[in-house]
Amino acid sequence: MAELSPMMQQYFRIKDSHKDHIVFFRLGDFYEMFYEDALIASKELELVLTGRDCGQETRAPMCGIPFKSCETYIAKLIQKGYKVAICEQVEDPAFAKGVVSREVVRVITPGTVLESNLLEEDSNNFLCCIFYQPGGYGLIFADISTGEMNLIELTQDDDSLLLNELSRYAPREVIFNPAFLEKKSIAKFLREKMLCTADLLEEEKYDIDAASARILAHFEAESLEGLGLAAYLKCTRALGALLEYLADTQKLGVERMITLRFHNEAQYMNLDQNARTHLELLSTMRSKDKRGSLLWVLDKTKTPMGKRQIKNFLRQPLVNPAAINKRLNAVEELVGNQLRCSEIIDLLGGIFDIERMITRIVYGNATPREYKALEQTIRQFPGIKGHLADCRSAYLKEIDSQIDLLEDVAQLLEASIQEEPPTTLKDGGVIRKGYSDQLDQLRDLMDHALDYITRMENEQREATGIRNLKISYNKVFGYYIEVTRSNLSQVPEHYIRKQTLANCERYIIQELKELEEKILSATDQAISLETQLFEQVRTSVAKQLHRIQQSASAISRLDVFCSFAQTALMNQYVRPDVDLSQRIAITDGRHPVVEQLLTGAPFVPNDTLLEPGENQIAIITGPNMAGKSTYMRQTALIVLMAQIGSFVPAASAQIGVVDGIYTRVGASDDLSAGQSTFMVEMVEVAKILKDATANSLLILDEIGRGTSTYDGMSIAQGVLEFIADKRRLGAKTLFATHYHELTQMEERLPCVKNYNICVKKRGDDITFLRKIVRGGADESYGIEVSKLAGIPDWIIKRAKEILKQLESDKPMQESRPVKAATESMPDEMQIQFENPKLVQLEAQLKDIDLNTLTPLEALNILYGLKELVK
Ligand code: ATP
Repeated sequence: MAELSPMMQQYFRIKDSHKDHIVFFRLGDFYEMFYEDALIASKELELVLTGRDCGQETRAPMCGIPFKSCETYIAKLIQKGYKVAICEQVEDPAFAKGVVSREVVRVITPGTVLESNLLEEDSNNFLCCIFYQPGGYGLIFADISTGEMNLIELTQDDDSLLLNELSRYAPREVIFNPAFLEKKSIAKFLREKMLCTADLLEEEKYDIDAASARILAHFEAESLEGLGLAAYLKCTRALGALLEYLADTQKLGVERMITLRFHNEAQYMNLDQNARTHLELLSTMRSKDKRGSLLWVLDKTKTPMGKRQIKNFLRQPLVNPAAINKRLNAVEELVGNQLRCSEIIDLLGGIFDIERMITRIVYGNATPREYKALEQTIRQFPGIKGHLADCRSAYLKEIDSQIDLLEDVAQLLEASIQEEPPTTLKDGGVIRKGYSDQLDQLRDLMDHALDYITRMENEQREATGIRNLKISYNKVFGYYIEVTRSNLSQVPEHYIRKQTLANCERYIIQELKELEEKILSATDQAISLETQLFEQVRTSVAKQLHRIQQSASAISRLDVFCSFAQTALMNQYVRPDVDLSQRIAITDGRHPVVEQLLTGAPFVPNDTLLEPGENQIAIITGPNMAGKSTYMRQTALIVLMAQIGSFVPAASAQIGVVDGIYTRVGASDDLSAGQSTFMVEMVEVAKILKDATANSLLILDEIGRGTSTYDGMSIAQGVLEFIADKRRLGAKTLFATHYHELTQMEERLPCVKNYNICVKKRGDDITFLRKIVRGGADESYGIEVSKLAGIPDWIIKRAKEILKQLESDKPMQESRPVKAATESMPDEMQIQFENPKLVQLEAQLKDIDLNTLTPLEALNILYGLKELVK
């Protein structure tokens, strides 16, 4: 250290406490990086690596970026998984004695970004803090860009519950206590599936006393009871650790974290990662695009807050009919008054992301334009409230009462900030004329310096009687008064001589000096005064954080309800009857997404009936491509839509709420985890059977198809029997299968009903009718569907021959599955596959004696062979 230059000594002191971070060290207009950080940054950001003399033999590797364009570089590093510590000069270099003081003012990690180009407008950016102790978890999912914290206390030491929550919130960063280290598989899941960074915090950070004290101080509360935390000690520990982490990394602005939301396990529908993915709620399975997902159909929101809120709704369908109906009443009222709905939607179009703006205002990094956008947003509130004033539904009334007109804030912003302010405060011009007399005077001085000088010149001419007296300026003296020789006798006594020239004398006077000082320092003064005034405005607006946040949150829900209403109107949805009946009865249900994507043929609606008793399980058979998957998913989506408070694509629907939707659909190989297709299928089925309850809805598509026919069929039957048994599970289930033998379960199990999706067959061709009817399908039409797919005619013909033979040998349709499982495959099958020409070819080739063959004979044989295979 001793040999290092003082500045580098300062650098090392700072770097020492930020070993895991890339330190952006402010030097004038640049952020510089040194040593290891410089090597990483120059590579990742493609910057030129230079060196800096730092008092040692070798130069320190160094690279830098202009501080003005740092956001793009920070974004790149964060996206690549690095963490950045921003180290600023914290005193004015002009007044610094020795090295300018510097401090890390903020650490930016994937979970703590605030910069708008690092955040997706329509998504939350969650940081998750985990406290684990054998027996359960305390989880906080915090979004510092919106100030919300979601608290979940898991009272079982169950990895799958934790995984559900992690996949529900999809955090960008996770911090955890040492005990969590034993959960290696979850750490792997976070790294590989969630692609998020995970960091260990010391156990002391989770200390219950320290955590409680920090929380009480943060919320200025008297007791944990008052905050609703007393019963959630694991969450309390996690929350304490999180607040400390934020205070360490953010330094400023942690007071923005004001919204605490408690989630208990019984409040929301259980939706695991598989169900979310399979039902394509937020994105499609294949392309990961929004287009083609349920969100794509439902999301007509206008504001960024609404876009995040609708995802929240989709993430967490409710299970309480009263809460669901409260939402549905709001949607119904908007549907019932289309004019009002569309006028509100128009007004919502003028609303900016004030939730994130107020965060940046609190943190002190909002641009002047964002303040203006806040004002413009607030200006929409009276119009919106006007439309809500006479609403009848409780939810819309609540929203109305939560939207604060914020007139004081709007007035302050209108009075203080220019109509079209610049993007930064740096060059001034942000504060509006008339807001501060002092600032106006300074600006006036800057704008009219020449006028003031001319005025003084005239005054002095009059006072002295010297008609050709003039005031001029040069760099050496600044402003001065010039009097020609012939008039020197009239020069008053208080004139101070500065310079004598051949034909004139130059003077200064006190008033002129003062004016000069004012003119020359007016620009600097104006900018520093503007900075002060802007900071005052910032503080006043930041003080209104709670009111602004509450309004933003109300607006976000209004936006979602308008979006639901608009979708319902556009797509002819109906209000579902949501109750505790345990009955799912849908008439003319449609798949909300497929019906939008179909071009040409219209979507064929279908009914669904599932309820305890005779209609608990529907076995669905039918040809490939008939629409089995579509039908099952549509039922799940209609139930889910109803439980988030949306209208549904059907003629009518009664939805007895379900506590969870579980899906086992298609092949989702997890080869990276070393699991085969069949293994994945079985792991998923096992998990469903463990997690689901009698109140759940199960969507099982072709269970058992990943293994040999008889193994698969036996497993499928076993699963069905398990679900059918009320003592074991008794869940409402849609079960699609190609094992037609399973349709015989209807005779054995009173809770099973068979359905099939009809097709019309004419000759070799089939037409899909897409209509679901009672009864099992008799044929698979797999061969006909293959033909549609373009499989060569030869194979189609051959497959038919084989099928015919198999059916005549072993009438599988008639055999009961258990009995069928004991039968063996026909031996002749192998032989039937041989091509007689190939056999002949092989025999001829074998007969040829190459030792005795003349070239001519060889040619003749070759000719013969060619003829044979023609
Ligand atoms: P497989 O057994 O091969 O998986 P499947 O029976 O599950 O097939 P789906 O994937 O559900 O068939 O449907 C195939 C296609 O049929 C869908 O992509 C959709 O375009 C169309 N389709 C399904 N149901 C309907 C319907 N009710 N009305 C109109 N078109 C439909």
